Amino acid sequence: MGLVLYVSPIENIGVDSFKRDVAIMDTTWTVIKLTLWNAFAHVLDENLNHVEICPIIVACGLHVKSFYGTYLSTGYYTRIYVNPVNEKKTSLSTWYTSEKLARIRRDWFRSSTFSLKSSIDISNTPRIRLSQFPTVRNVQYCRVAAYACRVDDVNNVIYEACNRCLKKVAIFQGLLKCQSCNINNTVTIPRLLLRLTIFDKSGNLKVTILHDLAQYLLGCLATEVKSVLQQPNGRNRVMEKVFACFGNRAFSWVLHPPTGAFNPEHSYTVGYVLHIDWAEECMWLNKYIASKRRK
Ligand SMILES: [Zn+2]
Repeated sequence: MGLVLYVSPIENIGVDSFKRDVAIMDTTWTVIKLTLWNAFAHVLDENLNHVEICPIIVACGLHVKSFYGTYLSTGYYTRIYVNPVNEKKTSLSTWYTSEKLARIRRDWFRSSTFSLKSSIDISNTPRIRLSQFPTVRNVQYCRVAAYACRVDDVNNVIYEACNRCLKKVAIFQGLLKCQSCNINNTVTIPRLLLRLTIFDKSGNLKVTILHDLAQYLLGCLATEVKSVLQQPNGRNRVMEKVFACFGNRAFSWVLHPPTGAFNPEHSYTVGYVLHIDWAEECMWLNKYIASKRRK
């Protein structure tokens, strides 16, 4: 049983199948994708994304599937009820009306520019402080509210990558060589790589923003950055651009946690960067403090 936060449009799969994905959440704040196949796709429609209510769906006989993360899917024995009348449903809707954060999350899902999968991943990401980062394990991402304080040398923001595999090429006997394709004299394309240090009140961390995300955040292409760098004073202009994007501003950083032992010299990869909503952060903080008090 869950609150329906978001309903996706119907998608045709193959010749005679279609499906619809919905994001559902319960009082644990965990969001999961439920895929409604064929006839089940009609139990909800995307007009629900524009109304104030949040429907409650009760489904049984679902399959638990895994494809880049766990999700639920309808099957032969599935039964689905939307807004049934029972005690459990009433307690879930009471919870929903009393939890402002639940409505904030619903609105975030409805306006999200990310894919449904990314929205769910971001939404389920535990919030931590940077001092806790070294000990985070067994989660896909963790999330911190932090400022960017130092941008590493802008001379290294561009690297040349093999145009076949997009891996960094090495210079070998004066030739550009792609070690993974094993080709000498590889055709290369410029790629972006931003290294920053971020901090909150508890500590700091080196992070790396990879090509696609870096292009998106800076609002320009790697080729443009490369050509600016080749102009006189280009280094300063790139530095200014990076500073205009990150300087003196807090963001919500969604980070890949350490895979092995934490190394403070290592630069950890950023999955997503989100604008921060301080009101929402305070609400989560209050919830965290309240849960500590109960223990
Ligand atoms: Zn290659």
